[in-house]
Amino acid sequence: MEINCPNCAADLKVRNDAVIHTCDYCGTAIQVSKMVAEHPATKKEKQKFIVKDHYIVRCHYTPDQAKNLLGAWISKIPGTPTDFEAETNIHSQKLTFYPLWVGQYAADTPYRGLDDWPQFSHPAYDAPGWYEHVSYYKKEETGEVIREYQIPLIGISLQKDQEYLRDYIVTVSGKEYFDIKHVKDVNGEIIDSTLSYDEVRNRMNQHVLNSQEKEIRKEVIIMHSRKDNIKEEALYYIHLPIYEIQYTYKRKNHKALIDGSNGRIIHVETPITRGFRAKTISLGAIHVAVGIILPLLFYKTLPFLSIGVGVGLIALGILFFAINLRRRAAEKQV
Ligand SMILES: [Zn+2]
Repeated sequence: MEINCPNCAADLKVRNDAVIHTCDYCGTAIQVSKMVAEHPATKKEKQKFIVKDHYIVRCHYTPDQAKNLLGAWISKIPGTPTDFEAETNIHSQKLTFYPLWVGQYAADTPYRGLDDWPQFSHPAYDAPGWYEHVSYYKKEETGEVIREYQIPLIGISLQKDQEYLRDYIVTVSGKEYFDIKHVKDVNGEIIDSTLSYDEVRNRMNQHVLNSQEKEIRKEVIIMHSRKDNIKEEALYYIHLPIYEIQYTYKRKNHKALIDGSNGRIIHVETPITRGFRAKTISLGAIHVAVGIILPLLFYKTLPFLSIGVGVGLIALGILFFAINLRRRAAEKQV
C-alpha cells in the first residue's frame, strides 16, 4: 500500500495492515490506519494523522561494545565454560527500535458505598472495656481516590523470545524528540506499534479505571456510585534501542537482548559446563538425601532439630538443582 507522509509528503510504501508507520524520511509517526479510514482532504486535517509526542531513547553502545559487554557479563556467571568467549560465534546482531507507549494520567474518583462496621454488645463484667459480642452492620461511607499513573505499554504483541521485554523496567527519562537521522546513523531498524493511538488510549483508560476500582474496594464492600475524572497528562510514543544477538556455542544456538541505551543485559541464554552441572546435581542429591536420612535417624531423640535441619538441607538441595536448570539470566534492576 502507498501513502503520502502528512508531514513531508514523501511517497511511502507501507504494509497493508500497518497501523502506525514512522516516515523513513522525516521520522514522523503516521497513524496509517486512521488515515486510510478517513482519507485526508485539507491540510489542517492532515495534522490529526500524526502522533504528536514521538520520542526516541538514543543508542549509546556500538555493536562491538554491546558484544563485549555481553561476553564479559556471561563469563562472570557461575558455570559458564571458560572457553566460552573464544568459542562463541555471533552470527547475527541487529539493533531494533521497539515501540513503547507511556501514558501519564491523573485520576480522582469520589465514591459512595457501604462498609462493614463493628458493633460491640454485652460488656464483659470481669474485663472492663471488653465485650462478649461483636456484630457487623453496614454503614454508608464516602471518600475519594486520588492517584497519578504512569503506564508503559509495548506497542506490539511480543514473540516468545521477546517476552522478556515485558518485564523489563524501561527508563525513559532520557528520551528526546524522535530523530530519524540517529536511527540511520546507528543502523537501526524501526518497529512500529500495531496498536492504534485510540486503542492505546482506551487500554490506558481502562487500566486507570481498574486501578481506581481496586483502591475503592479496599474501603467499601458495596459500591453505590462513583464518578471518575481522568485526565490524560501525556501520551508518549517512544522508540527504544534493543540489541538482539544470536550466537552459537559448540553448535548450539543462544540468544541475548541488550538495552542499547545503557548497556544493560535484558535477557541471555547461557551454556553451562558439564562439570558445573555434575557438581550441582551431586551436591543437590547429597543435600536432599541427608535431609531425608537425618530426621529418620534422630527423630526420637531430637525431633524438632532433626526435622528442621532436614527440611533446610532438602531446600538447599532443591536450590542446587534449580541453579542447574537455569537457562536464562538477566541483569538485576534496581
Ligand atoms: Zn515524512
